[in-house]
Amino acid sequence: MNLEGTTALVTGGSRGIGRAICVRLAAMGCVVGVNYVANPSAAEETLSAIQEQGGKGFLLQFDVADSVEVQAAVKAMSKEYGGPDILVNNAGITRDGLMARMKEDDWDAVLDTNLKGTFICSKAVMRGMMKKRWGRIINISSVVGFLGNGGQVNYGAAKAGLIGLTKSMARELAPRTVTVNAVAPGYIVTDMTSELSDEVQEAIKAQVPLGTLGQPEDVAACVAFLASEESGYLTGQTLHVNGGMYMGN
Ligand code: NDP
Repeated sequence: MNLEGTTALVTGGSRGIGRAICVRLAAMGCVVGVNYVANPSAAEETLSAIQEQGGKGFLLQFDVADSVEVQAAVKAMSKEYGGPDILVNNAGITRDGLMARMKEDDWDAVLDTNLKGTFICSKAVMRGMMKKRWGRIINISSVVGFLGNGGQVNYGAAKAGLIGLTKSMARELAPRTVTVNAVAPGYIVTDMTSELSDEVQEAIKAQVPLGTLGQPEDVAACVAFLASEESGYLTGQTLHVNGGMYMGN
């Protein structure tokens, strides 16, 4: 799979799954815009990892939930590098707590970043893709959007919402040969899951037929396929990358 001559924007590319996606797309020849919001040193590390393997990338600081910042960043990227031809909506946060005690701010923050951010970023790039009659939008959902999880009503709602957004966008953009798909990871070893106690991690593993947590590279491999020319006849789909934890669709 070759992405020479294309550009990608990966939101939340500074750490975890986003970093693995940046490195993987760059290894396929894509010029990668690494977005971050608050962590420039982590974003620099992603850029170094891209460059160490001979790839090309650049940094873009913006908050995915701020449409003014997003539009300015996409405009600057298009001017300097073209595209983006590929958008990976990966930026995400959690603000966990039981619903009875959950503050509205925690609901809003998670919905704004995980769901509205995807709407804002996709809206900012879709015109260019439609003009080109080629594009790939890949939204990172979660197994929690399918199974639900106590303590994550905000996150579960945002991640389930992304699936409806993905399918509706896929229908709107299909006439211009722009595909829109989702990847729904299970539990992956990143900063987001590092806070889970050993006990909770063991309980999760017990629910995973393959018996382990996943690695960011497992998710990146699926994103790489969805970004490629070869995936051109897939749209509105969800790839579940979860070690068999959830097998429905
Ligand atoms: P991390 O917490 O390791 O990294 C989060 C990334 O998102 C960082 O790059 C962070 O940037 C960025 N980010 C957060 N808020 C914003 C914002 N407002 N604007 C721009 N960037 C932002 O997360 P993971 O790698 O674990 O998760 C990546 C995605 O995968 C998320 O959408 C998550 O919900 C999803 N996912 C993760 C799973 C897991 O088990 N880890 C399972 C299922 C889904 P900065 O470094 O600047 O803070």
